[in-house]
Amino acid sequence: MTTTLITGGAGFLGSHLCDRFLAEGHRVICVDNFVTGRKANIQHLLDREDFRFLEHDVSNPFEIDEPIRYVLHFASPASPIDYLELPIQTLKVGSLGTHNTLGLARAHGASYLLASTSEVYGDPLVHPQPETYWGNVNPVGPRGVYDEAKRFAEAMVTAYHRVHGLDIRIIRIFNTYGPRMRLRDGRVVPAFVQQALEGSPLTVFGDGQQTRSFCYVSDLVEGIFRLLMSGVTEPVNIGNPQEMTILDFAETIVRCTDSSSEVSFHDLPVDDPKTRQPDITKARQLLGWEPKVDLAEGLGKTIRFFQGVIEAGKPEVS
Ligand code: NAD
Ligand code: UDP
Repeated sequence: MTTTLITGGAGFLGSHLCDRFLAEGHRVICVDNFVTGRKANIQHLLDREDFRFLEHDVSNPFEIDEPIRYVLHFASPASPIDYLELPIQTLKVGSLGTHNTLGLARAHGASYLLASTSEVYGDPLVHPQPETYWGNVNPVGPRGVYDEAKRFAEAMVTAYHRVHGLDIRIIRIFNTYGPRMRLRDGRVVPAFVQQALEGSPLTVFGDGQQTRSFCYVSDLVEGIFRLLMSGVTEPVNIGNPQEMTILDFAETIVRCTDSSSEVSFHDLPVDDPKTRQPDITKARQLLGWEPKVDLAEGLGKTIRFFQGVIEAGKPEVS
């Protein structure tokens, strides 16, 4: 049986990856310390024999006493409010956590996939962003803890490839949304959906003219799977190129939820990128991948999920 180890497997993306790799017939080892993830995301998997959970902070070294074929490093706070609250943990998991999991992959002869991010492009001066763009990041700004951790992680992963011949993949993930996001993680999708469902004003930061491009989680998971199974060792963008302003997005959420909420304007966070749109030419050409789920369909599924969470009054703790 092929065994895949997923760090951050109890988080939003990680838990969907656990589901996907189990569905592909892999044994899955999920490693998480619940700093931003939840046991509820993997509760349905805990009794399976082909699933193993290990509660551990991957910034500290660890060993696994069984063969591993793939290591996917997804552990990291990912929402701006999470990484602003956890700046040192974010830097540690991107640096020490990456080093530890690279060492683990090397010891097992496993292939290694790093969850990188569009944030490596910072507040981009090139639009849309191709993988060849080196970015515009403020290392000492509040977002620097995340952006620079991921940039360091990319450099470290590439060094393991060059020096040790490790088989690597680097995915640069653009804003992805879907069920199992935390309602209160501060990212724009859960924030706006909750506000719209509760009839409170949608908190638009700045004038709302900054843009983002939103990818539904099932499309992302397909892109990750294809990249892992490919031989592509350079970074690949995965995201949905459909770009919109945050103000338009707020209006879309109000419409999709049939809400009477208004919009309220608030200060723009420091270094908030003004534009973001993936150039996915490489993913199209090398992986034959492109997104399939349009915004209306993805938002419909996501809104139903958050409605369930709100109605059940489920606590957002592990
Ligand atoms: P998330 O917060 O839901 O998941 C992160 C998971 O990592 C959580 O379960 C958390 O408990 C775990 N974790 C964090 N630090 C850890 C540590 N030191 N040891 C063990 N576990 C730890 O966030 P997400 O949106 O699922 O993001 C997952 C990954 O994908 C992150 O690496 C993030 O940078 C990357 N990413 C996500 C997006 C997106 O739009 N969702 C975009 C770009 C990159
Ligand atoms: N945003 C907003 N209101 C909110 C949360 C976010 O206007 O309540 C904006 C934020 O300033 C950014 C965009 O929405 O321009 C996306 O924010 P998110 O935190 O989801 O992710 P980012 O792309 O900034 O990492």
